[in-house]
Amino acid sequence: MTRRIAIVGGGVGGTVLANRLADELAEEIDAGEVEVSLVTDSPEHVYKPVFLYVAFGMRDVADGVRPLDQLLDRRVRLRIAHVQQIDTDAKRIERDDGATLDYDYLVVTTGAELAPETVPGLVEGAHHYYSPDGATALRDALAEFTEGRIVLGVVGMPHMCPVAPLEFVFIADAWFGERGLGEDVSITYTYPADRAHSLDAIADWAEPRLADRGIETVTSFEVASVAPDERIVTATDGERLDYDLFVTIPPHRGDPLIARSGLGDEGWIDVDQHTLEAERADDVYAFGDNADLPTSKAGSAAHYEASVVAKRLASRVRGRTPTAVYSGKTLCFVEAGLDEATYVSLDYETQPDLPEPSRTIHWAKLAYNESYWLTARGLL
Ligand SMILES: Cc1cc2nc3c(=O)[nH]c(=O)nc-3n(C[C@H](O)[C@H](O)[C@H](O)COP(=O)(O)OP(=O)(O)OC[C@H]3O[C@@H](n4cnc5c(N)ncnc54)[C@H](O)[C@@H]3O)c2cc1C
Repeated sequence: MTRRIAIVGGGVGGTVLANRLADELAEEIDAGEVEVSLVTDSPEHVYKPVFLYVAFGMRDVADGVRPLDQLLDRRVRLRIAHVQQIDTDAKRIERDDGATLDYDYLVVTTGAELAPETVPGLVEGAHHYYSPDGATALRDALAEFTEGRIVLGVVGMPHMCPVAPLEFVFIADAWFGERGLGEDVSITYTYPADRAHSLDAIADWAEPRLADRGIETVTSFEVASVAPDERIVTATDGERLDYDLFVTIPPHRGDPLIARSGLGDEGWIDVDQHTLEAERADDVYAFGDNADLPTSKAGSAAHYEASVVAKRLASRVRGRTPTAVYSGKTLCFVEAGLDEATYVSLDYETQPDLPEPSRTIHWAKLAYNESYWLTARGLL
């Protein structure tokens, strides 16, 4: 009997997993004993870290987009459709075109979506670089900006790439300086927690660096609303900041499919943090941004998690007890200006220890961004 593995979501996690499974289970797939299907709502695969560079005119959106069918092993059956519902009792995926797909094992990797409309004035009043259109519009706004106050406000947590807001302000500071506008442009960084970052080790690294560069930091600032006409952003405690350009990290949420399918109440899927098995349904795994895990919503985490799920699924279809577990491992490079970077390496037990920023690490980040396409293919 053929065992059917279905993956929903063709982003970082789903694509790496599909390719890892195709590799691990090549013999079984070729013998018709296992079938791996990837159902996702776009024929294009998007590598979001490129958006940070798009905002400063250093990359194009197209640099982060490739046809998914060119990245997938030929053993993976790709189906382009939006998944509307998952019936975890019947083990059936329902697509919005009415078609269904039955599975024996399911993996949900639908990522996180942006929800700027949940904060009054944010859609009209703020720029962001968390989507292709957002990054492109911000690029045009930054290119025209020659004087005044830029406020970068982190609105909701958790959000994708927890270090991306710090990267933005450090790059912006160096970028305006290089253009001779350092004296005319001021930058303010706001964060909802009581430090510059929710992880102490990152806050310890970032706070003196922000101060050195004259980047004003406002902590415990929970954005309540934005008034685009007055150019004022107001926090829940009534504190107000005026701005000339407001850049935000918008609130995030999980796909509504998660709540509809009974996999989690808060928009994220409840999973075991080591096995990545869903807590509310049998034979369902979830990882990447849509999983409620005590680690970063980062492509790096999704990459390591994909390896674990591939190994566990391979064990299960072979009738063996799965032993692979996820340790919380994440490794993210952090741009600290235009030509220097550091990195954050952590797991569930270990706080990161950020090395002194260097040109070498900056080039390592750029090199990783290029080699990402090999990672997506499951080769790295
Ligand atoms: C500006 C920016 C910079 C970043 N920088 C870094 C970085 O430097 N390092 C790092 O590690 N991470 C970084 N990230 C985060 C990283 O991009 C995400 O953590 C990663 O993409 C998560 O992978 P995922 O597979 O969980 O979700 P995604 O890659 O978002 O993929 C989810 C997929 O599921 C599809 N989908 C969703 N719902 C459905 C549905 N109902 N039916 C069918 N398909 C569906 C989506 O279309 C998408 O293709 C950054 C993110 C941003 C926005």
